[in-house]
Amino acid sequence: MQNIKFHTQTDCTHYADVPERFLGAVTPPIFQNSLFVYPTFEKFSRALKKNMQNYIYTRGKNPTVEICEQKIARLEKGESAKCFGSGMAAITSTILTFLRTGDHIVSIKNIYGPTYKFLSSFLPRFNVETSFISGSSIEELRRAIKQNTKIIYLESPTTFTFQLQNLSEIAELAKQKKIVTIIDNSWATPYFQNPLEIGINLIVHSCSKYLAGHSDVVAGAVIGKRDYIEQIFQSEFSLLGGILHPFEAWLLIRGLRTLPLRMERHFNNALKIAKFLENHPKVLKVNYPLLPSHPQYQLAKKQLKGGSGLFSFELKTDNITDNIKKIKKFVNSLRIFRLGVSWGGYESLVHPRAASMENGKPNKIQKAMGLSPYLIRLSVGLEDVEDLISDLEQALSQVNS
Ligand SMILES: *Cc1c(COP(=O)(O)O)cnc(C)c1O
Repeated sequence: MQNIKFHTQTDCTHYADVPERFLGAVTPPIFQNSLFVYPTFEKFSRALKKNMQNYIYTRGKNPTVEICEQKIARLEKGESAKCFGSGMAAITSTILTFLRTGDHIVSIKNIYGPTYKFLSSFLPRFNVETSFISGSSIEELRRAIKQNTKIIYLESPTTFTFQLQNLSEIAELAKQKKIVTIIDNSWATPYFQNPLEIGINLIVHSCSKYLAGHSDVVAGAVIGKRDYIEQIFQSEFSLLGGILHPFEAWLLIRGLRTLPLRMERHFNNALKIAKFLENHPKVLKVNYPLLPSHPQYQLAKKQLKGGSGLFSFELKTDNITDNIKKIKKFVNSLRIFRLGVSWGGYESLVHPRAASMENGKPNKIQKAMGLSPYLIRLSVGLEDVEDLISDLEQALSQVNS
């Protein structure tokens, strides 16, 4: 099974599951043990010398977690993967592995908020500086790279504004300059985008989103060449200890089995809803990369095999106070879409950016990132699309034009 090439759905269903290892159990057991014991000094000593390959302690390697790691590595077409207790643990540990005091990073302005905060206010404590660019052209990136640039950190598309970066151009430039490239691929998932194949070095995921898919797990992962993953494993992974626990890994394995089915549904639903909103007289603008009206549609078609269920839009407005009133009315009128952070689960959610404004003004991070406070983000779930459209339609009808 491990060596045969199958399609993605088959890999999601079966890859790395070896029932024979576990008395024929069709789903793997949850290895809820902290350590593994050895019968002899020699075997123990041999295992300790290859600590990434052997079961020694669950902060390093655990059989249930390992199944997730193997499945995710396979789906991302990478050699190796490590899972973490959250997307942020994966992101911060991966970035830290490649940094020394005095280094420089180039990243994108509208990346995930906590990642932005890590780069812009945590790393400067250790004299690491980040330049944030729009990511829209290779010239802009070339200008931002310095002698001490060690990492280019990407998110394509970004998950509030849905702007893309040209991954093959960036990978090529980074290779020439010997800079490590890392991308957050949580939005597209390996089902729709495979950045390692394009030449990006490392992929990080919040598995809390589509990979797990049921809003019941917080998890993360990093995927790439074996050498990189070993480097991460030996330093930040083991030392900071932000590991994925066996029960969460077991839920993640369960989620991964249906990833392609869910992604097809999210894509179909989202595209229909994006088109519906785009044609609605009360909507100003829809940001969905797979809509022909998206300014980077051609690039999206090239890099993405499809799109997930997350996108944003803005209501038409005349003035600021009026807009907040409209946003409130709209989201409070929704019946299926519930207010919540996060995304990627089975359920439809709405996240108005305005909800995190302070005293009617964008907060510090929003201001620095240049995010419009009027963006309304939808995470389109697996429900019947007709019901979702009716819900949006009735809520929009409550908004004064
Ligand atoms: C949620 C999210 C993360 C962080 O993942 P957690 O699992 O919540 O720590 C990182 N990147 C993006 C794009 C996200 O949406």
